[in-house]
Amino acid sequence: MPGHPLRPQLLVRTPGARRRAHGPVRPAPHRVAPADVTGCCAVTVDSIAAWHDAGSGITRSLELAHRSLLAGGLPVGAVVLGPGGDVVAEGRNRAYDPPGGDDRLQGSPIAHAEMNALARIAVGADLSTTTLWSSHRPCGMCAAACEFTGVGRVRFVAPDPSDDQPGPEPTGVDGQWLIVANLLFLAGIRAYSGADAPILRQARDREPETTGLLDTVAPQLWETATLPDALGLLWPDVVDAAQQRRRRIGG
Ligand SMILES: [Zn+2]
Repeated sequence: MPGHPLRPQLLVRTPGARRRAHGPVRPAPHRVAPADVTGCCAVTVDSIAAWHDAGSGITRSLELAHRSLLAGGLPVGAVVLGPGGDVVAEGRNRAYDPPGGDDRLQGSPIAHAEMNALARIAVGADLSTTTLWSSHRPCGMCAAACEFTGVGRVRFVAPDPSDDQPGPEPTGVDGQWLIVANLLFLAGIRAYSGADAPILRQARDREPETTGLLDTVAPQLWETATLPDALGLLWPDVVDAAQQRRRRIGG
């Protein structure tokens, strides 16, 4: 991720600005969480199965990205897993969060998700058997930090929509998770930088399936449901978007 993918509005956000940035909640066809959404009632069987099959590297990094979205930051999450899948450390982007929190790098330009995860690991730890999962392709700084600290493998769920050039595709990741990762990322851009933000305009050309789905999702969906619940409401369209994207890129 580049160091400052959000527009300046985010950096000068004032109380209430987030709500104003959302504007009025648009009527249907936007999907919103029903008022009585609780537990698993809103989650489809397919989405439950997909969530459990995805693996903790994908689901945890996406949950952390979702948490960043709710916190007012940039939706990117990262988790370092041990060889048995145990969580060694985790972090989310904190560069744009409001003050608070306990990440050492918070509010600094290097407070990327991967850096915050690595900053929780003691000097000298052997990371050669670990895998760092990020919701988005690590930027040069984070990739270098992974190499410097000896992380065994680096995996990511989706290309970074803010990259100047389209990056490589993730390997071994079902396409629907790529859609979800970028849906969260772009929901954050839309919420805090507006629908006309340059990153969003670029994404409309580069990831039209994701932005098309984003346009049907009311911001409040992310705020009133857990991530699995929200995905339960969106799952058929996420799968459809992934299929359309696969056909477009010839995968
Ligand atoms: Zn980074």
